[in-house]
Amino acid sequence: MAEQDPFELAQDLSGKHLIDGAFVPSQSGKTFDVIYPATLEVIGKAAFGEKADVDAAVAAAKKAQKAWAALPARERGKLVTECGRRIEAHKEELARLVALETGKALRTESRVEASVVADAFTFYGGLASELKGESVPFNPDMLTVTLREPIGVVGAIIPWNVPMMLMAFKIAPAMVAGNTVVVKSAEEAPFAVLRVCEIMNEVLPPGVFNILSGFGPECGAPLVEHPDVGKVTFTGSVETGKIIYRGAAEKLMPVTLELGGKSPMIVMGDADLERAVAGAVSGVRFTRQGQSCTAASRIYVHESLHDAFIEALKAKVDAMVMGDPLDEKTDIGTIVSEQQYERVLGYITQGKADGGTAHEGSSLPGDGKLAKGYFVRPVIFTDLPEDSRVISEEIFGPVTAIQRFSTLDEVIDKANDSEYGLAATIWTRDLKTAMEGVRRLEAGFVQVNQNLVVQPNLSYGGIKQSGLGKEASLEAMLEHFTHKKTAIINMT
Ligand code: ADP
Repeated sequence: MAEQDPFELAQDLSGKHLIDGAFVPSQSGKTFDVIYPATLEVIGKAAFGEKADVDAAVAAAKKAQKAWAALPARERGKLVTECGRRIEAHKEELARLVALETGKALRTESRVEASVVADAFTFYGGLASELKGESVPFNPDMLTVTLREPIGVVGAIIPWNVPMMLMAFKIAPAMVAGNTVVVKSAEEAPFAVLRVCEIMNEVLPPGVFNILSGFGPECGAPLVEHPDVGKVTFTGSVETGKIIYRGAAEKLMPVTLELGGKSPMIVMGDADLERAVAGAVSGVRFTRQGQSCTAASRIYVHESLHDAFIEALKAKVDAMVMGDPLDEKTDIGTIVSEQQYERVLGYITQGKADGGTAHEGSSLPGDGKLAKGYFVRPVIFTDLPEDSRVISEEIFGPVTAIQRFSTLDEVIDKANDSEYGLAATIWTRDLKTAMEGVRRLEAGFVQVNQNLVVQPNLSYGGIKQSGLGKEASLEAMLEHFTHKKTAIINMT
């Protein structure tokens, strides 16, 4: 199939929300610029959503919800599966569009995201008949059962780092469960998700999903506060997560919050060095400029492997090609925005001021059109003092800090000494050490000798400041997008 040029697509999708099955501008007529972070070219103008637009989208979702929920679950499932099939057919175009608005390298990152999006829809579409209740042995004269019922209208607020995937993990289970949804896209990346919704619009009835572009306070907050929104599911920063939680408390509304992380990677002395180094490259997510909630931004290496590990990691990172995200040769694209770029550079300056040694790998793409782009060279810090903010705070950039340790107890204590608890990995050939790591590491997602990306069927979510509730998996659909109703039928 002929793929549409991503620049043209961004233009075509400019100035529009998708409400009640139709593309509409903001009621105010306002828009905002969206840029290509590799060149700072304006690629399009997104509709600037505000309360009036939120009201229209929620009204459409509310109007559509009863009929949607009244469909047999498997019918809803079939329609959501069909969305997945069509998204799959458009995945190259979606990958190019998301690369354009986020600066994520096409080959190493954006194509991976586009594939997971299609998977999430087909996975949840197939789970429709799992929306089952239970029968409860209570009294022989009474049939007691539980039913899974939809919540109603679900608000989904998403970030820019993997926008299509995080939208899919929210709206596919919400819709299969019989809810209708209103999405608020991230201001940096409004177009790829809008294109996904345009594809869904070929299949689903009007109002079942609606998508608005806009900023947090003007568009996200009114969605959280809207009296007809019965649940909000959010991925983003801890700070914004807490604002949303407070807004939800006013309405006693349930929320799912997927927040930040400072995920430790532990390399034991008996680890396979080569595998662990490859795991660090994928774990820090250098290819995405470290813009991942689960980025291995603290690496603890046993003293016996410490120096060899650092040398091998430097060599790997130096060999990576930073460049135009749309270029097939590129391994590493850009940071998403000026704000994030300045923030990441601030942490690198801080780490150096704290006395850390910074190895800056790869090389900047040079001049020409890319000279102004938000490229940051990957940084491997060593010799940082333990109280450096680079070791404790989430950076969301291509920066990791390597520290040495000698015993398992010591490293587990260090790894757990964090306000976050999202992900962790441990690299060892010893089964007992691996199991100790799995049991003792305070994180929602622990992996041994690997760094798998998030999968639709694996429950994902953090503890401590990393969030509330789980995303992906059957459990997420049942626990987070339905109410459980208990019914007692007295047969006497
Ligand atoms: P990031 O640092 O990744 O941009 P944010 O948490 O600020 O993280 O943003 C994630 C999403 O939350 C974006 O869609 C953003 O517009 C939205 N957002 C920001 N502030 C608010 C708010 N006060 N209420 C609702 N949504 C918000």
